[in-house]
Amino acid sequence: MSAHPHFVLGLDLDGTCADFYGRMREIAAVYTKQALADLPTDVEWSLSNWGIGEDDYENFHRYAVVEHQLFETMPPLPGAPEALDRLAKEGIRIRIITHRLILSSLHEMTVLQSVRWLDAHHIPYWDLCFMREKDDVNADLYVEDAPHNVLRLQEAGADVVVFANGTNVALEHTSNRVATWDEAEATIRDRYYRWLERHSLSLPSRPGEAPSWFEAGNAPATS
Ligand SMILES: [Mg+2]
Repeated sequence: MSAHPHFVLGLDLDGTCADFYGRMREIAAVYTKQALADLPTDVEWSLSNWGIGEDDYENFHRYAVVEHQLFETMPPLPGAPEALDRLAKEGIRIRIITHRLILSSLHEMTVLQSVRWLDAHHIPYWDLCFMREKDDVNADLYVEDAPHNVLRLQEAGADVVVFANGTNVALEHTSNRVATWDEAEATIRDRYYRWLERHSLSLPSRPGEAPSWFEAGNAPATS
């Protein structure tokens, strides 16, 4: 049994840690035979401003995963792996919660590309959940960008850091909206340190440093 409870960060990947829309834009240019520069960088939820409608999304998604290894070739959003590494070293348990299993025939490829991407970018995680209903998985704090997920989590009473992008401009006035990983890291750390104080646990002496109660970097203290 664990001697300490753990602070769990429920982490979305696409549009939060991974530059899903940046990579999808590149693939969309090839798919629709348009020049990349002609595709607006401001993404819309349906991708219709790139010439892909909701009806064609499934075909496009399949093309991106099968022909372009979408989930392995997306760059991380700037600073995400480094920030997550520091937060994990400080004792946060990262629980990845991603809704990527959209087409059943692509599950193997999707999972394989995802774990390869996480390893390649040295993103630390304890759990990897492929989930549509994200509030079915417990976390002390969530990082999300998709408006329907943010609202569903907030309705369930969850604390959510909203990663700003073109898909969630409607949530402009939501508190905890962050635009960069510098901001996200600071917000997550602030929540985590307050949680540590509530649990009478000592704080890390500086960012990226393990607190005294947290043994051997990765291993939770056990009794
Ligand atoms: Mg997302």
